[in-house]
Amino acid sequence: MHSCQPPLHNYYRLLGSQRFTSSGDKGKRIVVLGTGWGGFNLAQNLPTDTNLSVIPPSNHFVFTPLLPSTAVGTLEFRAIQECVRTLPSVSNFYQAKAISIDFEEKTILCRDIWDHTDAKPSTFTVPYDSLVPSMGVKTNTFSTPNVSSREGKEVFFLKHLHHARSIRNRTLEMFEIAALPSTSDGEKRRLLSFVIVGGGPKSCEYASELHDFLTRDLATLYPDLLPYVRVTLVEASNHLLGPFESSLRSYVLGLFKSRDISVKIDTAVLSVEIFTDPSYGFEASKAILSSGESLEFGTMIWSAGLKPVRLTDALSIPKTPAGRILTLSQLL
Ligand SMILES: Cc1cc2nc3c(=O)[nH]c(=O)nc-3n(C[C@H](O)[C@H](O)[C@H](O)COP(=O)(O)OP(=O)(O)OC[C@H]3O[C@@H](n4cnc5c(N)ncnc54)[C@H](O)[C@@H]3O)c2cc1C
Repeated sequence: MHSCQPPLHNYYRLLGSQRFTSSGDKGKRIVVLGTGWGGFNLAQNLPTDTNLSVIPPSNHFVFTPLLPSTAVGTLEFRAIQECVRTLPSVSNFYQAKAISIDFEEKTILCRDIWDHTDAKPSTFTVPYDSLVPSMGVKTNTFSTPNVSSREGKEVFFLKHLHHARSIRNRTLEMFEIAALPSTSDGEKRRLLSFVIVGGGPKSCEYASELHDFLTRDLATLYPDLLPYVRVTLVEASNHLLGPFESSLRSYVLGLFKSRDISVKIDTAVLSVEIFTDPSYGFEASKAILSSGESLEFGTMIWSAGLKPVRLTDALSIPKTPAGRILTLSQLL
């Protein structure tokens, strides 16, 4: 960190960063990229007379710790989101993605996120005096075959509100299909098999929420289907909850065992395969595991890691070995 200070200070000057609340800043164009925890908090706390532009691909902030609860319906989506456009400090709100930054000219090239009939997204440039690049990170699939291409079909990430909404819809859809008299036992087992990839806090929270949802809510609605339900959590390292103390890790492992959540540690998902089975009415999927096993599933939640967003990758600025933007100790 210390050796990077000179380039960081250069970068800091290029961004034009400064203390935004000082009176000398009035009229200066502050641009915030992203409205996650960092960007939203800053925008919320800036004075109302700031010349603030906010550029995120979604129009809301999400309270991420409660996202797994919305994925199973314990909480409604509106309970964990906050509108950004209506923040008193926001002068301009553009729902778009920043695609490049010209630090010399102090401009940001943005692209909108909407589908255009002419298939050409519109681009525009936003000038800044001070820039806050708070784009966060995105889900890392580690190029595992078919994970990205099946995302939103039977593979789901769990990072944004639309992911949670898709998981909730998919879960109910799986139960409805399994409940049809025409669905074979084998297909019921496949449709009601949930595979959670990654043993971090987010996956463990989701596994717990799913367990409660299955045993409390769905047990009443579909009692005959419960014997077909299987929840499997797959983790490549030899423990769950990497950042936590070993006593907590063992406690969660024991808890999952007692709840019939099958935990496969030291096991990686090598690929997702799509196949057809004559006894199934629908296209089917299975996870190929490093243990040599394969797991047929109806729904996979992929939460195995994070990586920088494309814009961060493209920026020529000081970064950590993991490719994240390096900052000074005050996040400057
Ligand atoms: C389900 C879940 C549960 C979690 N639970 C906890 C918890 O209990 N405790 C905890 O400490 N942490 C938790 N986290 C982690 C926490 O949410 C993150 O650490 C935090 O969101 C990081 O904040 P950020 O502002 O850096 O990025 P983010 O909050 O990810 O925000 C980044 C924003 O930038 C936007 N963006 C991306 N690319 C661009 C672009 N090119 N142009 C413009 N905008 C862009 C994104 O859409 C997003 O709005 C959880 C995360 C998840 C997903």
